[in-house]
Amino acid sequence: MDNSSGPKKIGNWTVTVDRNLCIGAASCVAVAPKTFALDNEAKAIILPSAPEELPDTIMDSAKACPVAAIIIHDETGKQIFP
Ligand code: SF4
Repeated sequence: MDNSSGPKKIGNWTVTVDRNLCIGAASCVAVAPKTFALDNEAKAIILPSAPEELPDTIMDSAKACPVAAIIIHDETGKQIFP
């Protein structure tokens, strides 16, 4: 299992979980269960199945994070969230 909080390329985006910000609220897991899980430190990691998730769902999960710990860059390297 890929035990990584990123940065990880998912489709055209690069997704990163800021482990220092993540408080393990698991909102991201609830919204995008193919993309995120919590590791044994209760920090979100990005799953190998993430490419199966719709980009809109991944964006929704980032918006659902109460501490904006999910950072998304587009294919040009521009930060598109938060
Ligand atoms: S929603 Fe945010 S704080 Fe909660 S587990 Fe996901 S990344 Fe961490």
